[in-house]
Amino acid sequence: MEGKPGRSGLPFDPAEEQLRVGLEIHQQLATRTKLFCPCPIAKSDELPLSFERRLRPTQSEMGQIDPAAVFEFNKGRVNLYRWNPESACLVDTDEEPPHPPSTEAIETAMIVAEVLGSSTVDEVHFMRKLVIDGSNTSGFQRTGIVALGGALPVDGTSVGVLTITVEEDSSRVLKEGAQAREYALDRMGVPLVEIALDHVEGDPDLVERVALSLGRSLRSTGRVARGQGTIRQDLNVSLLGGKVVEVKGVQKLNLISKVVRYEGTRQMGLVRIAAEIERRGIAEVECRVNDVTEALKASSAPVVRRTIQKGGVVWCVSVTDFAGLLGFEPFPGIRLGKELAEIARTNGLGGVIHSDEFAKQGITGDEDVALRSLAGSDSEAGLVLVGGARDAVENVCDLIAERLRVAGAGVPAETRAATEEGETRYLRPRPGAARMYPETDIPQLEVTEEWRARLRANLPVPWEERVAGYSSRYSLSGEAALQLFDSGNSGLFEDLAGRLKLEPSVVASFLVEAPVRLSREGVDDENITPEALSAVLVALDSGKFAKEAAVDVLRTMANGTARTPDEAASKLGLTGLGDEELRALVRDVVSRNRPLVKEKGDRAFSVLMGEVMKLARGRVDGQKVSMELRRALEEGQ
Ligand SMILES: [Zn+2]
Repeated sequence: MEGKPGRSGLPFDPAEEQLRVGLEIHQQLATRTKLFCPCPIAKSDELPLSFERRLRPTQSEMGQIDPAAVFEFNKGRVNLYRWNPESACLVDTDEEPPHPPSTEAIETAMIVAEVLGSSTVDEVHFMRKLVIDGSNTSGFQRTGIVALGGALPVDGTSVGVLTITVEEDSSRVLKEGAQAREYALDRMGVPLVEIALDHVEGDPDLVERVALSLGRSLRSTGRVARGQGTIRQDLNVSLLGGKVVEVKGVQKLNLISKVVRYEGTRQMGLVRIAAEIERRGIAEVECRVNDVTEALKASSAPVVRRTIQKGGVVWCVSVTDFAGLLGFEPFPGIRLGKELAEIARTNGLGGVIHSDEFAKQGITGDEDVALRSLAGSDSEAGLVLVGGARDAVENVCDLIAERLRVAGAGVPAETRAATEEGETRYLRPRPGAARMYPETDIPQLEVTEEWRARLRANLPVPWEERVAGYSSRYSLSGEAALQLFDSGNSGLFEDLAGRLKLEPSVVASFLVEAPVRLSREGVDDENITPEALSAVLVALDSGKFAKEAAVDVLRTMANGTARTPDEAASKLGLTGLGDEELRALVRDVVSRNRPLVKEKGDRAFSVLMGEVMKLARGRVDGQKVSMELRRALEEGQ
């Protein structure tokens, strides 16, 4: 059953199994204000104001209640919102109706549409999309389609563009507990452009290249936000024309192919498990739930005993003919037991214990027999123990029974979250179709032919051309030019390379490497601002310190130890050597080493160079020292 991984890195042939991945990119825009209010876009460290709200599922105009909404509501959570008037207002707290949309945001989406050959609509109508997890204070997200169609060129082929939408971002999650969640409103209402692409087939790496290319096209507009968390990718993954699983929130581009591989493997595993269910002749999965708290009071499994001692209950879901199926792993780490444990965790419990791992979890054979007799089940049944607070256990047992009833059909339609390890974990059932309805507080916005023409006359230079330009104009290698563009600092580079005496390659490598290096050291990305990068390069250009010290100077500023490069340099003891000072230092070193110079002549150079650099550590450029030293040696001969 274990196929060898093919070229795609999947344990099955993705083309044969029709692996399909649709990509949706959400990119924050760098507009002056939020989408529906005049608040600036800024992260607030202080959030002095707060209020609590519990959201209820609203009936949509269709008269149906969205199943995903009911599901979230069942979790019975209370939401706490924290905010600061510097970054949020009464629109964000949902106490004032939204203002007309930011034309700057709509215009950015229109530019993106032109870049992707998409047709803009004549009128932008905002709709309400039901969001009941509490991440939007109003209970819905406002979203408006700006353009349809188009194509994104990738590797000599192209991927169709379905829609380009402008929408408001949700609140930032501060804390996620079982019964309460905390959100910050600074991100609430920040404009996003959402681009939904047609699916890509078969190759997980191609999906990643598509995302990379789309990200570059977006950045070419010069109007999108930069930095971590400003771009989020959602993936719609399916196999064999089966149910589509939505994987939300891949934050790093280089995780996309890994996430696709994991999710493809998981789905194939569920298909194999379904085949095994069919092979066993189980036409309909039968589940029974009963309370086994009394029977397990003195259980030999510590985790079960502790749950009951703390006042919790333990219930048992018994599944006819499922012995061996819960722990069955068609691929490493892919099993039904794990799926059930994820459902429990998402709903506030620690996990589940199932009968295929009873021994490992400390449930004895006697306890197993007792549980089966209580459930009226034979030894062929699979058992799942769920423990914790009564309400949560009841809810989770229902969800687990529901999940097992559809196990014979393979992959259920779910919304999952991408993890930082490149896997996916269960979030909730997929929302139904009744989740959109018209937003009556916002008037429609007309897109005039004149507006379109004005934008068309000023389209951004395509990213490929800009990258080629960096190579030809500034003699950067193709690789360095692309890295510069991908760093998001190319605008800063164009500004600085034109007015500084520094080599463009020095400017480019600093702008590419310094932020990455500091970020890896754990320095907060938000403190590595364009202003700080620019100030360090300007100071370096005027010889305040050597280029070897530039990262140290930036670090000192990003840590908040110094406000300016001058201050940082003096804190680091890097006050640059003046020309006179350097000359004196060099002469001193040469005269102290007179015998060596006499003996070795020119070959003494490297020793002397080393000594001067040691004394001038980080305060002067090596090239300058070398020039000065050669001059001193020539004079001395
Ligand atoms: Zn606001």
